[in-house]
Amino acid sequence: MLEVNGRRYAQPRQPTVIVCVDGCEPDYLAQAVAGGHMPWMQRTLARGTALVADCVVPTFTNPNNLSIVTGAPPSVHGICGNYLYDVESGTEVMMNDPKWLRAPTILAALSKAGRRCAVVTAKDKLRLLLGKGMAPGSICFSSEKADTANLAEHGVADVLALVGLPLPDVYSAALSEFVFAAGVALMSRPAATRPEVMYLSTTDYVQHKSAPGMAGANAFYAMMDRHLAALDEIGCVIALTADHGMNAKTWMDGRPDVVYLQDHLDAWLGSGRARTILPITDPYVVHHGALGSYATVYLPAEEVTRTAERLAALRGIERVLTREQAAAAFELPADRIGDLVVVSERSTVIGTAAARHDLGALEVPLRSHGGISEQRVPLIVNRPIAGLETGRRWRNFDAFELALNRAQ
Ligand SMILES: [Zn+2]
Repeated sequence: MLEVNGRRYAQPRQPTVIVCVDGCEPDYLAQAVAGGHMPWMQRTLARGTALVADCVVPTFTNPNNLSIVTGAPPSVHGICGNYLYDVESGTEVMMNDPKWLRAPTILAALSKAGRRCAVVTAKDKLRLLLGKGMAPGSICFSSEKADTANLAEHGVADVLALVGLPLPDVYSAALSEFVFAAGVALMSRPAATRPEVMYLSTTDYVQHKSAPGMAGANAFYAMMDRHLAALDEIGCVIALTADHGMNAKTWMDGRPDVVYLQDHLDAWLGSGRARTILPITDPYVVHHGALGSYATVYLPAEEVTRTAERLAALRGIERVLTREQAAAAFELPADRIGDLVVVSERSTVIGTAAARHDLGALEVPLRSHGGISEQRVPLIVNRPIAGLETGRRWRNFDAFELALNRAQ
């Protein structure tokens, strides 16, 4: 047994794959299965283990991917957004640098214990965080930069030839397909050289564009189903979960339903006295225009209570919490969130100032995430698990525990 962040994990006896399907609201599976697009998933839901779990709030990609690979909430691993306000330097910075990660990953521990581990992620922004601490020789690369993978840095070379697909565009369903195809290619190696534990993480390009049941979504899930079936055929234990759900965030005319927080704060407190941070912000804004259902606010201490009341009274706002309340409710690192945490309702997103968002980049009506309304995600294992605690609140970051301790 290995102990990582206070939890114990068994060594794998069968090749084990943990899959994080970015933005996989459970209804995507329901619609694709009902439409006959996921025969493997249909069998697995019937014969394996099918749970709905809670991901962590903010329901964003980086906090949840790091929760899954550490088996712990952001209060332990420290990654609470894609983006944060660094109080020490007074600057707004990306949280991609592994220096922000405060806890070891299960993958690092397994690789240091001698297990062959592999990570394949769609976007390169996650690669360094997910690969932190993995032993030399471990495989870790992104499909976005698959053409540059080399033995010294990524533990594998000639990835395009290995996978047999061209380098995908960063804004495409193919970026995720490459992740699955690479996973199957790696697991198809001889038993003595294939990964013993593998983590696959996709991108939510399709989910930002297509609602559950739409043709684009069903085609994506059919593609995923074929690759999962191939991994199952090889004999892998597969645990599948998601980093967050996804919802339409639109007004009735199809425009995004946005509460521009900074404009309200400037009107109430005077220009520039409060600072709105949108931790969904990342370099890939075409998906969502940096609009999600979660924001943090830094403001003068004497304004916190009154401002919290005014924010809570705004249409479309679901919850306003102080730093301490949010840290307790959502298991967040108190030193990395604002004085206030603001969560909007299911169909509403939060912006900074209207002038700072380019909604023209949105090609289809906005679908996004970040709030409590995107917290429910699938947690599926392709093995039956005896004596499962049905009353427990399952989390997406229980995936490694289920796969390693309960499914083999
Ligand atoms: Zn995501």
